Amino acid sequence: MIAANDLYHVVPIEGKGFGCVALKDIKIGTLIIEEIPQFPPAKKETGDLVGILFSLMECFNSMNETDKVEFLELSNQFKDDLEFTELMHQETAKYKNKHKNQENEEVLEKAIEIYGIYKTNSFPNGVLLKSSRFNHSCASNAELVWRKEEKEGSEIRAVSKIKAGDEVTINFDILNIGLRRISERQEILMDRWGFDCHCSLCEEERLNSNDDKYDYFEKCKREAVELCLSRTGTNNNNKVTHGKLHREIFCYKEMYKFAKEKRASRQFLHRFICVEGWDTAYRGYDIVTQYAKKIQDKAKKGKGLTEKDKYEIFQFTKQAEEFKKECEQFGKIGELMTKVVFSEDSVPYRQWQERNKAFSGHDKKMEQFRTQFGTIKV
Ligand SMILES: [Zn+2]
Repeated sequence: MIAANDLYHVVPIEGKGFGCVALKDIKIGTLIIEEIPQFPPAKKETGDLVGILFSLMECFNSMNETDKVEFLELSNQFKDDLEFTELMHQETAKYKNKHKNQENEEVLEKAIEIYGIYKTNSFPNGVLLKSSRFNHSCASNAELVWRKEEKEGSEIRAVSKIKAGDEVTINFDILNIGLRRISERQEILMDRWGFDCHCSLCEEERLNSNDDKYDYFEKCKREAVELCLSRTGTNNNNKVTHGKLHREIFCYKEMYKFAKEKRASRQFLHRFICVEGWDTAYRGYDIVTQYAKKIQDKAKKGKGLTEKDKYEIFQFTKQAEEFKKECEQFGKIGELMTKVVFSEDSVPYRQWQERNKAFSGHDKKMEQFRTQFGTIKV
């Protein structure tokens, strides 16, 4: 048993080697651990294997002695993988034949072990010795976040209530694993990290894969992307319409419902649903507000408002109200998600607060319209 901090310890877990178990109840949003990568990402991720191995060896040698020991204690999914070992030896044999040198040979042997550990434990920004002890779950109760703004490094925060004795888990690849069918997730996890996932979500979906629901999610995602491109892309003449914007918002809402049902990562919800949904709704709000303003400006210069103008302003005000409500919903979720996963001090959380506040400021203009024309009956 390895004590990590007062929130969790590292213990053997059946079928998983080691894992992190909560020592006490952990509240949602709690910072569990923060870390700076001790082992940076390999310089040569592509190119010849020997080059990658030497580059990894360099990284390993640059660590201090304690970290080296800790690194070598991390799990290596490829240790007994005959296919992996054979491929490694085949590739390195070419080099060994060319450079017959005992020292190089030993370095390469050691580098193969380091490569296996690196491949098993690396995150996009390198290997984090402490965070590497956390196992994966497709519906994790904690999330690993990269902080770039105030400080460079990683944080793991609880994203749901964790009870003492529960295993604390993170999602290894939110971008590629998030809301994919079970078969796709298993393939990615096996290919990249060499294990079969038996998390609560995978166990549920082994009984009922819900593939049809995942297909519907994909359909909504595709439609949202297409609608978004049709109004933001440069090579098109598509008009932004009230109906299209609402349809796009509808897609994000459907995606959100499914993401919640599947206990998707908060970062995924924030990045791919809240931000996009809010932007779309705000775009709608902005357009109809501008329309109403244009009519009013025209009236100021001319003979005042006609009955048609009044009717149109009333309609645009009503539509602005609808878009505003949508903005508020996405904004509320965005604020909540970022508070939990990034903390109250984070830039994304402050950005949401500012967005929501700026929106209220903008709303004052609409407030004037409403006071002026709110009594018009159509
Ligand atoms: Zn899983």
